[in-house]
Amino acid sequence: MSSTLLSVSDVRIYYYTLTGIVRAVDGVSFQLREGEVLGIAGESGCGKSTLGYGLLGLIPPPGRIVRGSIVLDGIDIAKLKPAELRKIRWAKVSMVFQGAMNALNPVYTVGHQLAEPLVLHKGLSVKESLEVAAEMLKRVGLTPEVLKRYPHELSGGMKQRVMIAMALLLKPRLVIADEPTTALDVVIQAQIMNLFKEIRQVEKNAMIFITHDLSLIAEIADKTGVMYAGKMVEIGSSESVFGNPLHPYTQGLLRSIPRLRGKEKITWIPGVPPDLRMPPPGCRFHPRCPYAMDICRSEEPPEIEVEKGRTVSCWLYAKR
Ligand code: SF4
Repeated sequence: MSSTLLSVSDVRIYYYTLTGIVRAVDGVSFQLREGEVLGIAGESGCGKSTLGYGLLGLIPPPGRIVRGSIVLDGIDIAKLKPAELRKIRWAKVSMVFQGAMNALNPVYTVGHQLAEPLVLHKGLSVKESLEVAAEMLKRVGLTPEVLKRYPHELSGGMKQRVMIAMALLLKPRLVIADEPTTALDVVIQAQIMNLFKEIRQVEKNAMIFITHDLSLIAEIADKTGVMYAGKMVEIGSSESVFGNPLHPYTQGLLRSIPRLRGKEKITWIPGVPPDLRMPPPGCRFHPRCPYAMDICRSEEPPEIEVEKGRTVSCWLYAKR
């Protein structure tokens, strides 16, 4: 069995705003093995993108990591200084950012943007960097001619492929993809998902796939984590989480996916996620949970290991 690549322990990321402290990620722990793919799902505002940015040490002010450790390949990212972080970003961990349209710099050619990390991290000449970049473009299904183009000259799908090429250029051990198919039409979405699957086979990097779309996670992830209001409420093998969801929130999310077969009606989770400046006491899901008990309203549920590698934070599974 492969060894642990990433170990995230009790990570808390807060934003110190003028109207209060937003507890965007509040005590998240999980582990990822070499070559493993973890899908992280949850509604908008549940903290999944903040967690992704935290793993790269890219939390913008007024946010910061206030507690916990993020150990990637033996290095605690949460303790690194900005200059040290710059050395490991792209080289050890990279990100396919949400919205390729905004992530690429509009005033530089694709070639310039792909060559830059190779010049800075590997010390290659511009000519050598462009040769490597051209090869990587071919790997993601684009022609080397794209190097001369500006982002506005590319379609949404091409821009996303450029972002993926950029994330893979330095052969990082971990690639984080934040909503990589949002804003793409379904045909392009399918192509991008196939590209991720191919990359997975060939490059063998570990990946974290952040999305609100559970069906995408089911396609690619070995392991699935579900976040709600800054907490990882359930995590386990994708087979177990999709086959037998335990947390009432996961159950609600899965019941809200349209199905082609069967007579099961789509349902939704009533209410809205809480304001993370003032999350509800006890279990943060209790105002929306059909099974809420007295204890849920006052005490936070512990993380319960229901089987090896499978945890759920819910009082329904606590032995009392
Ligand atoms: Fe529902 Fe209670 Fe479980 Fe929270 S701890 S999900 S409120 S049953």
